[in-house]
Amino acid sequence: MASIEKLRAIARELEQKGSKASQLSWTLYTTGFDFGVVQAQEETTAVLRNKHYYRTVLEHRELDLGPLDRRRGELLYRGFRSYHVSDEFNRLESAVRAKRTELAKVLNAHRVRLGGREVRSTEIAQILRSSPDRALRKKAFLARAQVNRPLVEAGFLDLVRLRKELAAAYGAPDFVAYQLEMAELSPRVFDGWEQQAARLRPRYQEVCAALGRKHLGSDRVMPWDTAYLGARIAPQLAAPVDMARYHEVLRGLFLKFGFDIDRFNITYDIFPRRNKSEWGYNFTIERGRDSRVLANVEGRYQELGVLLHETGHAVHSFSLDPADALLNMGVSGIVSEGIANLFAGFLYHRSFFGGLLPGGVRVVGRDFARLREFNRAGAFTAMCGILFDQALYREDLASLDDINQLYWSRHRRIMDEKPYAAEPAWGFRIHHTTHPVYLHNYFLGDLTNEMLKQVFCKRHKVRDVMERPKAFGQFLRDEVMAPSGTWPFLELFERISGEPFSLRWLAP
Ligand SMILES: [Zn+2]
Repeated sequence: MASIEKLRAIARELEQKGSKASQLSWTLYTTGFDFGVVQAQEETTAVLRNKHYYRTVLEHRELDLGPLDRRRGELLYRGFRSYHVSDEFNRLESAVRAKRTELAKVLNAHRVRLGGREVRSTEIAQILRSSPDRALRKKAFLARAQVNRPLVEAGFLDLVRLRKELAAAYGAPDFVAYQLEMAELSPRVFDGWEQQAARLRPRYQEVCAALGRKHLGSDRVMPWDTAYLGARIAPQLAAPVDMARYHEVLRGLFLKFGFDIDRFNITYDIFPRRNKSEWGYNFTIERGRDSRVLANVEGRYQELGVLLHETGHAVHSFSLDPADALLNMGVSGIVSEGIANLFAGFLYHRSFFGGLLPGGVRVVGRDFARLREFNRAGAFTAMCGILFDQALYREDLASLDDINQLYWSRHRRIMDEKPYAAEPAWGFRIHHTTHPVYLHNYFLGDLTNEMLKQVFCKRHKVRDVMERPKAFGQFLRDEVMAPSGTWPFLELFERISGEPFSLRWLAP
């Protein structure tokens, strides 16, 4: 059988260049200093545009290879082929990248103003969770819309247009189809979402009405009430925690599953600062070798969820074989975000909060169980943002108002509600700018987690994965994380669950 040594060498070169670009992005996102992100990305792209390399990739497609080497070759081919469609595609691809980086800077440097002063995203979150003043919560919630206009003025609509042109130059029906093809995902995954939302809505409205009557004196729950209600159900979310001990706290949880994060090279930058991105991120500088976590925490229990999520990404990265850069190119965003959310979910498990939170473990456990039920009933509401993000590339948009109206139209389809403000908050969500057609990964990742937990519990005859944490860690490592690049998502899902992927795991 033929060898793929030449392909491995190309993949190594790609990885080295990509690693340099990631290091520069890390610096840009944590400090605002740009030491040449676009230039470094251009150098990665130059490898992909190399005609000689592309010929090598094509030649290997004709060889008699074993199944895994065939997969490795196809993944590299998928990475290369769009760069050899036309010069027009390459011109557009560079333009998209430059625009995206420029707009990310606008978002990273922007700070919301409330009551005449600048407020951090962590403060907004704190108001939404804990202020009994409903008018103030509404103001804080809608203040996130402030960045819409500067973002559009800096060229957000140009970015959308460039992406549409890019997809057309590639020959895809639209940019959504293009992105899904790159992610090895069938557009059919999104079929039937509106009907599914219609089925789940009545139960959610019922839950909201009951909670609203109890805590708000109104059965109409608004988006600025959701976090507040969550914190009324489980006040422990806002409990102060000593963030100086964050590493020890994280290590304790991951160790239960057999992952010792002290053995992994993970860098943390977790406190807010000017010009630093207000989101949570995991930068894979080099898979299995160097992982970095950006977060914004100030000392509340709930914020540990972000640290668990981002550390989950790191643990996933360290479960992959660093020497197999080719298969690592096949890791799907759904598995990636699913694993991260799976670990974030332990925020509500006694194995994590015991010892961290005041009050009896039983009381906290009961409150968190109620909170999880509330969150589960509302999980489908994420469909609004996912469908809005896709619609940006399927409708004609010429102004900020067009985008706002598009948002409301998708909101109405999923929530069956009228607009609740003149302008919705959408631009602050950095995904629309930097990670288009990506939001479904969190949603489908959570659905995958339900499947994983149920499959594990059935197999080990337990009711809770924490009855066998080491075995659960091994299951995740051996059957989910390590082979996550080996199969496309839908195939990986079916291999573990024994049935084709469906939305049935969403049902409460
Ligand atoms: Zn993530």
